[in-house]
Amino acid sequence: MKLIVAKSAGVCFGVKRAMDIAREAAKKYPKDLYTLGPLIHNPQAVEFLDQLGVKVKNRIEHIPRGTVIFRSHGVSLRDLMKAREKRLRIIDATCPIVKRAQHYAKYLHRHGYDLLIVGDAQHPEVEAIRSYIPEGVDVVEDVEASQRLGPWEKLGIIAQTTQSFSLFKEVVAVCLERAKELRVFNTICHATTIRQMEAVEIAKKVDCMIVIGGYNSGNTQRLAAICRDIQPHTYHIETSQELHPKWLAGREKIGLTAGASTPSWIIKEVEVKVRHLKS
Ligand code: SF4
Repeated sequence: MKLIVAKSAGVCFGVKRAMDIAREAAKKYPKDLYTLGPLIHNPQAVEFLDQLGVKVKNRIEHIPRGTVIFRSHGVSLRDLMKAREKRLRIIDATCPIVKRAQHYAKYLHRHGYDLLIVGDAQHPEVEAIRSYIPEGVDVVEDVEASQRLGPWEKLGIIAQTTQSFSLFKEVVAVCLERAKELRVFNTICHATTIRQMEAVEIAKKVDCMIVIGGYNSGNTQRLAAICRDIQPHTYHIETSQELHPKWLAGREKIGLTAGASTPSWIIKEVEVKVRHLKS
């Protein structure tokens, strides 16, 4: 059996940074420390933080006092204002790459462009970006949705940072024919692009692909979908306990990758279990 583990699998710079910030905060502010929503989309990592005293609250209204950590996806304008009104101590763990996407969205709006975001409208990162732009924002998740929009005088396009680059290019191509003036900022995170490209290359070579990451993690879901397009025997799991021996039966080449919020110890556990099952 050959096992190919993606070099790019696992925690990205932004998630590592957010975890480091939260760990430091737990030492400095051991009481009344909260994250607004789970810090990262990985239940095991959130549980680890909980043991350090970092509690999750899904609404600012539910935080009575103390310190709030804004997660790597960023925070909406409304929540930012509320946190300030409540005089909470704010620790901003927004990933700098997400901040960059927010910056371009504001820039385009200031310069009179309608804004199109290629991404998932329900994702906190996209919700946060939208909240800073009072009007003229559309979000599309696929090419068909972009075909129903426009025409525009001036259109600016950005992407959710974990979006697939090929979809982004396709949407841009559609909009090119519908906008008199078009500005495009590629706000896709480089680490995401590398991770997706490597996953594609591995999926082409194997007869079973395992993708590890939180079920609530958008970038892991996308990674699994990309792999499944190439290799139908693709399985998305959160932990090694979910790995089913029958998935691996008769498979001689197995690929392994993981989303941007998957801790390295979880990846290692899965790797060990795959080797054990195939030994
Ligand atoms: S995937 Fe990229 S944009 Fe998202 S947190 Fe990680 S480094 Fe930042």
